[in-house]
Amino acid sequence: MFIIKLIHVSIVAYACLASLCVDAREHHPKSISITFDDVPIHGEFTLPAQSLKDINQQLLDTLKKYKIQATGFVNEGHLKNDPKLLQSLLSDWHKHGHELGNHTFSHISYHKTELDTYLADIQKGATTTQTVLGKQKQKFFRPPYLHAGDTNASQQMLDKGLEKLGLRLVPVTMENADYVFDAPYTAKLQNKQMAAANTYKQQYLTFTEQRLDFYESASAKMFDKPVPHILMLHVNQLNADSLDSILMSLQSRGYHFQSLEKTLQHPVYSQPTQAFKFGIHWLFRWDKSKENKVKWATEPEPSAEAFAEHQQAITTLKNGKL
Ligand SMILES: [Zn+2]
Repeated sequence: MFIIKLIHVSIVAYACLASLCVDAREHHPKSISITFDDVPIHGEFTLPAQSLKDINQQLLDTLKKYKIQATGFVNEGHLKNDPKLLQSLLSDWHKHGHELGNHTFSHISYHKTELDTYLADIQKGATTTQTVLGKQKQKFFRPPYLHAGDTNASQQMLDKGLEKLGLRLVPVTMENADYVFDAPYTAKLQNKQMAAANTYKQQYLTFTEQRLDFYESASAKMFDKPVPHILMLHVNQLNADSLDSILMSLQSRGYHFQSLEKTLQHPVYSQPTQAFKFGIHWLFRWDKSKENKVKWATEPEPSAEAFAEHQQAITTLKNGKL
């Protein structure tokens, strides 16, 4: 009798928990938009055309597997010497249903450039993209280095300038320093050190998990309800080989993937933002605007060795000495 009662209580408790869980998810779902900077390639070093095609195809295949409509911020300048390849790669992103946003032509910093020059570079950076988009207008902009204005006045000037061009600046709430890890990974691959490359990729994925844990905990402290996140990744070999694991992790954390357009409708993206000299994500900027509830000094950072290895790999890849 006691056992039957216990089973009954457990079933009722389980049913309640399950329904609460569904309710919570329905009312406050965890959502995220996936964005890529430097489409069709992050340009710290040069890769052969075939590698570029393979990297982009791998990313597009993985996004398709998860039925994700992503946004890519185009850097036309990296492929200025091969406009045919640029157009063909951008067309692939467009045909797969992804948004193509702007990332300037020359990958310049707003903090080191006059506004007029900067806006002209943005317009130049839309030339091939607009050919690909046809009648569809480019809507989104991501500033290189996340330099969005080092004072509140310059930030407002940029926002107004972008508005005239029909563009909206897109914040970042999650990122994993992928640009630090890509070059050493690519160097290992090119040097046919497959086991070492794989171990290094695992380190990158572990670091990504630590960052995701941190951002989830920071968001929970900052907001009463879950807010939709915007993840920033770069187009590179490391992410072509890691995207599946990253998306699987986000899915297992309970995120559902949604378009950038939908995410930006959330009021959190319309609040005033504190200007910063440094390229930092928007969770930090928003928290500084309020009470600073999160211990930002505990945000996981790549080790000094990782930065040193990145520098060394860039030199090696640029010199072609492998
Ligand atoms: Zn960039």
